[in-house]
Amino acid sequence: MAEIKDVKGIGPKSLSLLNKLNINTVEDLVTHYPFRYDVLKRGSLQETEDDGHIIIDGKVESVPILMRFKAGLNKMNFRFVTPSGVVGVSIFNRAFLKKQLEVGTGITVIGKYDKKKNIITASEIKMGILSNKERIEPVYHCTSGLTNKNLSSYINMALLMYGREINDYIPEEYLEKYQFVNKRTALNIVHNPPSMDKLQDVINRLKYEELFAFMFKINYLKRQNKLNNKGLSREIKETDIKKFIKQLPFSLTSDQEKAVSEIIEDLKAPHRMNRLLQGDVGSGKTIVAFIAMYANCIAGYQAALMAPTEILATQHYHNLKELLKDTPYHLELLTGSTSKKEKQQIYENLKNGNINFIVGTHALIQEEVEYNNLGLVITDEQHRFGVNQRTNLQNKGYMPDILYMSATPIPRTYALTIYGDMDVTIIKERPKGRKPIATYVKTNDEIKDVLTMMYEELKQNHQVYVIAPLIEDNENSGDLKSVCHLKEQMQLAFKDKYNIDIIHGKMATAAKDLIMQEFLQNKIQILISTTVIEVGVDVPNATTMVIFDANRFGLSTLHQLRGRVGRGSAKSQCILVSDTDTKRLEIMEKVQDGFVISEEDFKLRGHGDLFGTKQSGDMEFKIASLRQDYKILLQAKKDSEEYLKNKDTDHKELKEKLISGILMN
Ligand code: ADP
Ligand code: MG
Repeated sequence: MAEIKDVKGIGPKSLSLLNKLNINTVEDLVTHYPFRYDVLKRGSLQETEDDGHIIIDGKVESVPILMRFKAGLNKMNFRFVTPSGVVGVSIFNRAFLKKQLEVGTGITVIGKYDKKKNIITASEIKMGILSNKERIEPVYHCTSGLTNKNLSSYINMALLMYGREINDYIPEEYLEKYQFVNKRTALNIVHNPPSMDKLQDVINRLKYEELFAFMFKINYLKRQNKLNNKGLSREIKETDIKKFIKQLPFSLTSDQEKAVSEIIEDLKAPHRMNRLLQGDVGSGKTIVAFIAMYANCIAGYQAALMAPTEILATQHYHNLKELLKDTPYHLELLTGSTSKKEKQQIYENLKNGNINFIVGTHALIQEEVEYNNLGLVITDEQHRFGVNQRTNLQNKGYMPDILYMSATPIPRTYALTIYGDMDVTIIKERPKGRKPIATYVKTNDEIKDVLTMMYEELKQNHQVYVIAPLIEDNENSGDLKSVCHLKEQMQLAFKDKYNIDIIHGKMATAAKDLIMQEFLQNKIQILISTTVIEVGVDVPNATTMVIFDANRFGLSTLHQLRGRVGRGSAKSQCILVSDTDTKRLEIMEKVQDGFVISEEDFKLRGHGDLFGTKQSGDMEFKIASLRQDYKILLQAKKDSEEYLKNKDTDHKELKEKLISGILMN
């Protein structure tokens, strides 16, 4: 298939900007879906209030007169004929439009209408009139240097050139059954919607496709797991495990004990373990994983622990190293930034069995890595990994037992769908002595209090997280807070006393890891972030979490964010800033249990915000949402099961396409 750089109009500069948005292939580009649509509905001069917002189309009636001011500013005036009368239009700083605004040209003007003067001060002029009284405009996630307009034109050019080559993951029989349009048409419509009805149909079709491919993978894996259910059985002496547990700095909660014994039973049994360990943030899943790794090791096998980020992997490595310091066992850390030389050494020692424990990122499942006798694989924060990543090890010909850990409280019915045939262990109880995280709901008027509360903590050398819903301010964001804007405000408020930095999802992994590392080392005192704030990381010195526009988030998301603090011995607090929806937010003041909160959310918002802060890995969809599209998911599940059951020779090509997707990534 063609590469992005082959798309007409995309040069090296645009290419790197696109990569910044994680658009690396033509398929990525054409499936960079709008996150919103603006509907431009034609208004009339009579019906618009004085100083009211207006969108109106018509024809340019007089040659625009251009005035230039100091500092490069300019203004253009022209007369404009609309179906509801003639009106004057002024627009600032669009001198470049002058050529296009010839007399008689059809345009759409968006702006504010001054009734007395009969003038529209335009914020925007779009070429062309509105057909059908309305125009639907896709709005994309952009990055600085790459506008909505650029994206739209690149996407359309890519569709024009390569639209036929884009994979359609819906088998023909289902395309027919549901009377879905083909992929190319669907993409054309989603990026250039002619009407809301057509758009909705196509969105459903694309959601179905995404969920079909997802469920196909899950069902395929389920089938493979069943076929290769034979696993390792090992001898493990209870007394050895008890001895190890006894020397821990704390005693296990009874839920942790139960989880340990279920896992040990799995390790001993001849079937392959395929278990999900679910527990609220801070419930202490990591130690359970370490004990399982230890048990596996004394039975003579290697264990691998995989974390979604380098920083989390590094943290696990140090903790495990501490636990193993009086044992003869050998532990290593393998991540993207391990030097080439060290890597070679580690590969060699993994292969010859000198390494007993390996902790790392998905560097652990790269092609070059070979194990001697891999017995157990654990993935932390499993919702952050793709199905693809989690199957790679199995596909290397190893048959290790597998444990997934996740902090996302998912109701059982959902878990059963998404996790196929895994066994599920739940840790409900929190370690003893954990202080609740004092939670306060504040309004924007009380911002001074909030800053004071932050300052009190900063003075004690503690650190603060600040969360906002947006990365940058944009014209449509209204009063919503953005990370960049808050950084300026915080810098004003705290002068140069503290180091303030930002982190968000559009940053490269290495940059994010670096910022997290600096926060962990207290080189940054105030970290401002969108909700992508790294999962799982323990920064015990961070005692305060401030969440702006808290009403924008589901309770479960708020709970996950709150779980970033309260990890050390110091008292912690979480401040939710919002002027509206305070009743719902007050639940957070009273409840500390993630499962209870998830249920409250469920009651309040229908499906609730079940998947927490970030739907990454196998739950990251481009257009579908597990929460909102559960019905489509169930249909896709049923269809993909049926499809997979058909004779293997059927639909060979599509199956290969779907399965190669699983193996390749
Ligand atoms: P999570 O389940 O969110 O991954 P962690 O495993 O990171 O939680 O545990 C959170 C903190 O609680 C860690 O600092 C860990 O050492 C501590 N911890 C775990 N289990 C216990 C326990 N039984 N008693 C006291 N502290 C514990
Ligand atoms: Mg964890």
